[in-house]
Amino acid sequence: MDAPERWPHDAGLDRVRVRGAREHNLRSVDLDIPRDALVAFTGISGSGKSSLAFGTIYAESQRRYFESVAPYARRLMSQVGSPDVDAIEGLPPAVALPQQRSGGSARSTVGSATTIANVLRMLYSRVGTYPQGAPMLLAEDFSTNTVQGACPTCHGLGRVHDVPEHLMVPDASLTIRDGALAAWPTAWHGKQLRDSLISLGYDIDVPWRDLPREQREWVLFTDESPQVPVFTDREPAEVRKAVAAGIEPRYMSTFQGVRSFVLNTFAGSKSARMRERAASFMVSAPCPRCGGRRLKPEALAVTFEGFDITELAAMPLDDVARVLRAVLEPGWTPRSAEPSSSGSGDAHPEQLLAARRLVADLLARLSPIIDLGLGSLSLDRTTSSLSSGELQRMRLATQVLSQLFGVVFVLDEPSAGLHPADTESLLRILATLRDSGNTVYFVEHALDVIREADWIVDIGPGAGADGGTVIYSGPLEGLQDADESVTRRYLFEQPATERVARERRAGDDRLELEGVTRHNVRDLSVTFPLGALTAVTGVSGSGKSSLVVQALPDLLWASLESEIDERASGADEPPAAAEDPLAHGTEAVTTGRAHGPAGRLRRIVQVSQKPIGRTSRSNVATYTGVFDRIRTLFAATPEARRRRYSASRFSFNLPAGRCPTCKGEGTMEVELLFLPTVHAPCATCGGSRYNPETLEIELHGRTVADVLAMSVRDARAWSSDSEVQRHLDALLDVGLGYVALGQPATQLSGGEAQRVKLASELRRGQRGDTLYLLDEPTSGLHPADADRLMAHLHHLVDGGSTVILVEHDMRIVAEADWVVDLGPGAGDAGGRVVAAGTPEQVAASPSSRTAPYLAAALR
Ligand code: ADP
Ligand code: ADP
Ligand code: ZN
Ligand code: ZN
Repeated sequence: MDAPERWPHDAGLDRVRVRGAREHNLRSVDLDIPRDALVAFTGISGSGKSSLAFGTIYAESQRRYFESVAPYARRLMSQVGSPDVDAIEGLPPAVALPQQRSGGSARSTVGSATTIANVLRMLYSRVGTYPQGAPMLLAEDFSTNTVQGACPTCHGLGRVHDVPEHLMVPDASLTIRDGALAAWPTAWHGKQLRDSLISLGYDIDVPWRDLPREQREWVLFTDESPQVPVFTDREPAEVRKAVAAGIEPRYMSTFQGVRSFVLNTFAGSKSARMRERAASFMVSAPCPRCGGRRLKPEALAVTFEGFDITELAAMPLDDVARVLRAVLEPGWTPRSAEPSSSGSGDAHPEQLLAARRLVADLLARLSPIIDLGLGSLSLDRTTSSLSSGELQRMRLATQVLSQLFGVVFVLDEPSAGLHPADTESLLRILATLRDSGNTVYFVEHALDVIREADWIVDIGPGAGADGGTVIYSGPLEGLQDADESVTRRYLFEQPATERVARERRAGDDRLELEGVTRHNVRDLSVTFPLGALTAVTGVSGSGKSSLVVQALPDLLWASLESEIDERASGADEPPAAAEDPLAHGTEAVTTGRAHGPAGRLRRIVQVSQKPIGRTSRSNVATYTGVFDRIRTLFAATPEARRRRYSASRFSFNLPAGRCPTCKGEGTMEVELLFLPTVHAPCATCGGSRYNPETLEIELHGRTVADVLAMSVRDARAWSSDSEVQRHLDALLDVGLGYVALGQPATQLSGGEAQRVKLASELRRGQRGDTLYLLDEPTSGLHPADADRLMAHLHHLVDGGSTVILVEHDMRIVAEADWVVDLGPGAGDAGGRVVAAGTPEQVAASPSSRTAPYLAAALR
């Protein structure tokens, strides 16, 4: 974002001065925060950190930005609303880096999102090694997203869909009349095509295999679609006579070959069932032309240091950097296509210079990304497959490159997903941003990161109505004297004194995995105690998610299928296979075996950070099921009964009760020229989602829209129904008391989504034979909230269940019964078990990068 000329900030001020901030739970906060500094916003979940950093400071900056670039946006901003604050002075333009709220777009990759791909294409275009005599290509020729660059056979998809003959005609002994052409439509359309074949002179009463070869080929593979006269209810011989005599047919019909029928149906049918049926006659295979590399052959023939552009894009960034660094060595010359030719060694000095310049540019872009612990990613990795922490760090690295200054960056938990060993590089990047003249405000829970801030703003003391005040604002040391602060306890008091001393459990049995292979995890053997809590640790990219989130459930399911009753995946979305239902085999596969005691594990519950819904119609209340009960209670009120309103009347997804204008969305999209689309509250219902009649019904003085707007904590105080209370208690227990019941699922962070799923699980109670697999459950949680969550998980384990979690917070790891440390490094340098044992044993491992941090937490 470029600061517009007219940016209305007071350049003279060295601080941002906030007066009377009342957004959400903030209690008319007055605050002066330094500029050109690293400022950490701390406090328990729901205390008001985001309301201040994002909801007030960033929102106000954005409002001014909109107004200064587009005065006509003023009217719009009055609809969208400006933050509830009396005044903010000294506010620079702000760039927000929130946690990802929903999956990135399918086409976006690490390369495109960081713009490194552009430079790489330039490099191949300008200084790549071309085959002798080949013309120089443009940068666009190296992009699979352009017509010039895409492989002409698969149009840049990398895979082709084919309709093989054996699927179109599974039984060649049948006649066409008896259904030899299985892939053709059934019912009248099938009959019509068959009638067309008669008119075209085909014998539909001989076995398919006895038809002449050219006839079979034409029927199956022709791309022609001739108009054919159709005579219904006549014998083939009569039809032939009628055609010859030019008799007026019943009607004309468009013939379609079997293959084109299948492909057209698959690509164009509006009916999901028809598309599915079509897909059953198709196979998908890597494109034969480009071998799945998606580029046209001419572009694939160009290499740099021996690699074509897709090979370089598939390499871990660490390796890409290694290849590029060699180019900057003195004496480097571009490789020639033909070693025998005279090309080598006498490259044009200009070309050498261009190569060095482009390579230096690429390295400068790669280095912050690698420094932030992302060196095991590849440029072709889709951003939708990254964790929210990885995505945020990638964006952060991109910001460093943009060389902005005079900007305030507002970040949400930049340390999420980061091993303590990687935290130092994060702090270096943040310091770089500050030292180049920027201000960095970040909401943070990791104590090691908070300690490095120049300034702390601690909000609290409690959550929701019990929070919203600034308890402390100043340098770290001063926080020691802020008695009210919960954060202070964790920063300055010996943590061990706080925690209940817990006997480490040995587990009652063990789960053994052998030969596990997935991504960088190769032929790994590892044992997990059952009836215990295991933390899996390791630097970012070491293989923790590959093992715990992906391989483990696959293997358990495959090996113990007969014993497992249920694989509850916290209602995760199905994998992105929807994009290409035929793309079997392109997904990474897991191999290996699992052994466990028979019947010990009956249920696998996988709670990931994946978003819980893709539409704003799914929210915390609908997801947990509490809304069903609440709607039933509304329908049971005397007034609702008198009006015969059923529970469905109180759903914003159904026509009876919802606002007709926005159809229950509560918002309308507003398109702005040149600016991102903005959602404004619906003018008819004011964002309530309901029609006025529905809102005439009240339960304990609240309408159904009021209830959706309440926080979980407020709703708990409002409700007198024990079932509703049980749902809400589960949400409170995972630290989600601050979330509004109607908060759209799309607006939950990964950590919040995970905790909503976890709450639904906790409420289902104990079975004692469940395996819980959790991915960084404490991300986004203040240490105090994390302790509460851990108490719950320990409770599940005490009931006989098993918990395996990926974790970075050494305070939490120190409390586990068992630790499996993966590494030692990331990508190819990782994927192995470095140490496994009790926290004390792992902390003593000389080769583990986790050990020193764990040892410090155990002291
Ligand atoms: P934190 O960032 O410290 O976890 P938040 O600033 O997100 O806390 O929330 C502070 C309070 O504001 C909570 O009580 C929460 O329920 C409320 N709140 C947050 N977002 C909204 C919203 N969009 N509408 C109404 N209340 C909100
Ligand atoms: P961690 O959870 O420890 O951060 P991951 O399991 O996510 O590590 O990654 C381990 C390795 O596997 C990394 O090199 C990563 O780039 C690779 N990897 C992870 N997911 C994918 C994927 N969807 N496609 C290709 N490689 C992947
Ligand atoms: Zn292709
Ligand atoms: Zn409406």
